[in-house]
Amino acid sequence: MALLKNLLRLTAPNPGAMTGPGTNSYLVGDADTGYAVIDPGPADPQHLEKLWRAAAGDIRMIVCTHSHPDHSPGAAPLQAMCHPRPPILGLPSAPSARSHSQFVPDRALQEGERLCLAGTGADARHTLQVMHTPGHAANHLCLLLLEDGLLFSGDHILSASTTVIDPPDGDMTAYLASLDRLSAACSEHRIGFILPAHGHVIGGFADEATDGRARSASIRRRRSRWR
Ligand SMILES: [Zn+2]
Repeated sequence: MALLKNLLRLTAPNPGAMTGPGTNSYLVGDADTGYAVIDPGPADPQHLEKLWRAAAGDIRMIVCTHSHPDHSPGAAPLQAMCHPRPPILGLPSAPSARSHSQFVPDRALQEGERLCLAGTGADARHTLQVMHTPGHAANHLCLLLLEDGLLFSGDHILSASTTVIDPPDGDMTAYLASLDRLSAACSEHRIGFILPAHGHVIGGFADEATDGRARSASIRRRRSRWR
């Protein structure tokens, strides 16, 4: 589904109790800049083929928000379909990750790092800023798409449900601290919409007072009460 002229969402065919309608893979970019894939999902050949075709094969990077089996296993087979091979980016799974959630990126991303897709046109630029957001998983990261005021929230913020915190890799204290940082980032970067890895787009925020920051804050209030 085309969400913007430079943003596509393709939902993997893995619906379930933990995945909702399935894992959302996002394709950021355009024909001029090439594309970044966020969360290729499970290693499902048909889904990966759809992603590859939607990008006309021009995938410049593959970013995984975290290591869980519904997010990262598609990265290696998708990479192998591309020439030249795009790097697989993210954070390596922590020692606390379960055996089905092992993940090692080609390169570990840094907090605050900006990933740029640049084309030849004057405004042909898409910049993803990395935020390490442990809580749902120790190696979880979110991405801000700066030019469009969007937040890719992975499993940290979901549209239809609250996220699972499964210790020891999951950590509620870290989760709440990450929410606070996300809330501040939503204000700073005027985030209007949040794009979760499961479910629909959150937002349509009309102004700063009711923006992504408010969503983060309301989740924080609820989660704090449950502790
Ligand atoms: Zn997850």
